[in-house]
Amino acid sequence: MTKNSPVDTVASDVPVAGVAQEPNFGDDNPFEDMMARFDHAAELVSLDPGIYKVLRQPEKQIIVSIPIQLDTGDVEVFTGYRVIHNTSRGPGKGGIRFDPNVTIDEVKALAAWMTWKCAVVNIPFGGAKGGVVCDPTKLSDAELERVTRRYTAALINVLGPESDIPAPDVNTNERVMAWIMDTYAMHKQSASHGVVTGKPIEIGGSLGRREATGRGCMIVTKEALKHLGLPVRGSRVAVQGFGNVGSVAAKLLGQEGLTVVAVSDASTGVYNENGIYIDEALQWVRENRYLDGYPGGDAISNEELLSLELDVLLPAAVENVITRRNAAGINTKVICEGANGPTTAAADRILEDKGVFVIPDILANAGGVTVSYFEWVQNRSGYFWDEKTVVDRLEAITVRSFADVLEVSKRHSVDMRTAAYMLSVERVAAVHRIRGMYA
Ligand code: NAD
Repeated sequence: MTKNSPVDTVASDVPVAGVAQEPNFGDDNPFEDMMARFDHAAELVSLDPGIYKVLRQPEKQIIVSIPIQLDTGDVEVFTGYRVIHNTSRGPGKGGIRFDPNVTIDEVKALAAWMTWKCAVVNIPFGGAKGGVVCDPTKLSDAELERVTRRYTAALINVLGPESDIPAPDVNTNERVMAWIMDTYAMHKQSASHGVVTGKPIEIGGSLGRREATGRGCMIVTKEALKHLGLPVRGSRVAVQGFGNVGSVAAKLLGQEGLTVVAVSDASTGVYNENGIYIDEALQWVRENRYLDGYPGGDAISNEELLSLELDVLLPAAVENVITRRNAAGINTKVICEGANGPTTAAADRILEDKGVFVIPDILANAGGVTVSYFEWVQNRSGYFWDEKTVVDRLEAITVRSFADVLEVSKRHSVDMRTAAYMLSVERVAAVHRIRGMYA
């Protein structure tokens, strides 16, 4: 097999003969793509037209200008976004990404995703998301800290443990969360640990948070295999994306007895019929930044990884990798969506026809926000749990949520994604009905 360049992050979906056109499914606009799924679920649950109108719009969209002094002494101005989609079930919750390609449409989609995700796992948060248009690889640590602090200061009256709680996302990490917490605490003159989650343990982070998303993926994958009557031990899995989510999921699935036959990152994929040694691959990435050159298997492209013969495919990298263009070539029984939005709405139809069991992102990768919820609870009570308590409670919520979605899927004869949206839209709508409309 040959080594190719990474997959296109923005899919150029060309129509395929024999595949029905879906004019409502905007494959390259994440907000419209997400809304297509919401519209479908809203119709199936006969959502009240008034609540439908409310949920179609984010509550708040904020664009801030972030001027900072660079290390050279020059001034640069970055753009930052924060979108709060819905707070009916609790404070806004959602990560902040630093990325040169981040757009307001993407942030709107991700904020709404968070509303549905928190509702699927039934935790008391609404949905939010943030982003700063910048390339963190081109900024020094000191510049990155100034961007983070100025962004936080610009949103000082929006963020808060009771109103809007950020977390890490693409290119942000525990350290960025510490700067946000510190900036917020300085402005408010209070400790305010609960203003962000995904913090370092030393300043109120939760044990088990770093592994939580990958662990959630492992748990739902096992539940899906059990449901389908497939064995866990010896099932073949490929993981696209070898960062926080993908590497932890690969490691934990391996520990459960699955054979991880392929992993990939932005540089390359690696295939080994007998299984990849995840610890060894992780060590390689720690030393060399990317999987490229890792000798534990044959190099394959990301596109080749997606079409391997598998029991489980776990996309855990970026959006829009399984599209109308390549869905017909997918050869797996289960897809566990570790990433947000890896499958376009048009591809869903093709996968359904092929009988692929898709565990949708808003269920599959909800382990992260579930343990963020635990972190927030621990911060508010000032009492910290041991790791076993975190892991056991995460497992209980994840197994129950999978069962809830499966039950809706069976009752309405719909796929798991539609069921997850139906369940979450119903839960959010129920709260709107109870609370009524403030005017
Ligand atoms: P990360 O930055 O730690 O890792 C991303 C990985 O994907 C890296 O290995 C990178 O090399 C690889 N990658 C990037 N572009 C690629 C491409 N075009 N093709 C193949 N691989 C590529 O990020 P993460 O935290 O692991 O997040 C991955 C996905 O999971 C994102 O969609 C994110 O929104 C989602 N997610 C993350 C969490 C979390 O807790 N970290 C929670 C829920 C959802």
